[in-house]
Amino acid sequence: MARIKLENISHSYSPDSFPEEKKEYAVSNLDICWEDGSSNALLGPSGCGKTTILNIISGLLRPSRGRILVDDQDVTGHSPRRRRIAQVFQFPVVYDSMNVFDNLAFPLRNQGQPEQIVRSKVTEVAEVLDLQDYLYNPPAKLNAAEKQKISLGRGLVREDTAAVLLDEPLTVIDPKLKGSMRRKLKEVQKNLRKTMIYVTHDQHEALTFADEVTIVKDGRLVQKGSPEELHSQPATPFIGYFIGSPGMNILDCTLKANKLEFKNFSLSIGRELLSRIRNTGTSFQLGIRPEFVRAGLSPGENTVPFEVSVVENTGAYWIVTYVNQETRIKARVPESIKVEKGQRHHLFFPEDRINLFHNEQRVI
Ligand code: ATP
Repeated sequence: MARIKLENISHSYSPDSFPEEKKEYAVSNLDICWEDGSSNALLGPSGCGKTTILNIISGLLRPSRGRILVDDQDVTGHSPRRRRIAQVFQFPVVYDSMNVFDNLAFPLRNQGQPEQIVRSKVTEVAEVLDLQDYLYNPPAKLNAAEKQKISLGRGLVREDTAAVLLDEPLTVIDPKLKGSMRRKLKEVQKNLRKTMIYVTHDQHEALTFADEVTIVKDGRLVQKGSPEELHSQPATPFIGYFIGSPGMNILDCTLKANKLEFKNFSLSIGRELLSRIRNTGTSFQLGIRPEFVRAGLSPGENTVPFEVSVVENTGAYWIVTYVNQETRIKARVPESIKVEKGQRHHLFFPEDRINLFHNEQRVI
């Protein structure tokens, strides 16, 4: 396996490879490194450039600008075959004319490997993927999850595979099998220590599979970090909102003296926080996760009155949407608290749980 690095990659699908307009670029100025043996997710909303990035890594697409390095070797001009990068697509790719064994053996036989090695590698990969009981069956009889394991197995069977790219691999899998398939993928990655990049727009899939998640928006890298970092230290308000369910509450505010002023209320802030943001500017976006908003029935110091607008019962807690004129806030409220639409609650935003952004960038 290998380390995969993108250096200043930009790509435009327009006939003019170097258009002036920024919006003509599917991806722009990407500098990303995925370490050898790491499990990664590439996460972002539809159309943000995920598939373009995968195709640039695998060699299906030549970028307008920049270099792709595999273990420090420049492979930008190399064909997909020379790059040794395996790709698993949304729809399983299996050869129906061959049994499962021959499907898995295909890349090795293509390389001209001796049959003894083919047998030993196929058996090993089949065991890892729990395909050993179907080895001599035609794939047509298998379900989509098993077929997808064959696609993955073909990527894993070659010793010299540099990385495995998975492009929304669970899309066609029955929802009941998705969880076990995801666990299997993670287990295989951990046991074999293969460099894997898993593309998805589903944060749950990304955060449960990967040790490091790369978030892309509008073709640009926004943040790369562990699931914990993305959750607790989002680089931008977009990530705060995009990660988490429900996402982070984001409220525009202005710093005046020792207060953050919102549209229709203000919050006092402590001296330490004030000293950290004072020289940054005056306009900020405050971010607070629903699980850290504290709701009480009585007013207290620095609390703000809000009205209960929507109550959703998750079974373990309430997700309450509060309104104060045009400001809306979501909070996770314990089931022990009685919550009814129209009730007035007093919300408290603990200072150590507050995120502050200035010009879309994290300050605190
Ligand atoms: P999705 O999650 O919907 O698959 P994505 O994040 O994978 O989206 P891409 O498919 O890489 O995003 O698309 C990025 C941008 O490039 C989009 O604006 C898309 O319309 C554009 N694009 C993708 N493929 C082509 C193409 N072959 N020709 C022209 N534009 C393209």
